[in-house]
Amino acid sequence: MHMNFIMNIPGLKGVIPTRIEDVGGVIRIYVEVERKVHRCPSCQNRTSRVHDYRIQKIHHLKWFERQTQIFYKRRRYACSCGKRFSEKNSIVQRYQRTSIEWNQAS
Ligand SMILES: [Zn+2]
Repeated sequence: MHMNFIMNIPGLKGVIPTRIEDVGGVIRIYVEVERKVHRCPSCQNRTSRVHDYRIQKIHHLKWFERQTQIFYKRRRYACSCGKRFSEKNSIVQRYQRTSIEWNQAS
C-alpha cells in the first residue's frame, strides 16, 4: 500500500493520510486535513483556533477488493464569539450517510 493511492479515492482529495494499517485484512486509513483559517458561520469573523478533534470512522468502500475503513480526525474550530464549528472537508459530505462519529481522541 502506498500513500499516493489514497489521494485517488473519491472524496479524499486534499486529505493528509497519516497512517495505514492492515487489521485482519481490513485496511484502516487515518486521515486529516490541513489546518486553515475558517470563517465563523455565526459572526463571519475569521479564526484558526482549534477547539478539539473528533475521530470519525467511515466504513464505506472496497479498495482494491479490500474492506476499507477511514478514520478521519475531524478538527473543530472555536471563534472568539463562542461559536464552535467543524472544519470544511470533502470526506463527510460524500460519505455522511455511512459514517459514525464517536468521542474525541485528542
Ligand atoms: Zn464567531
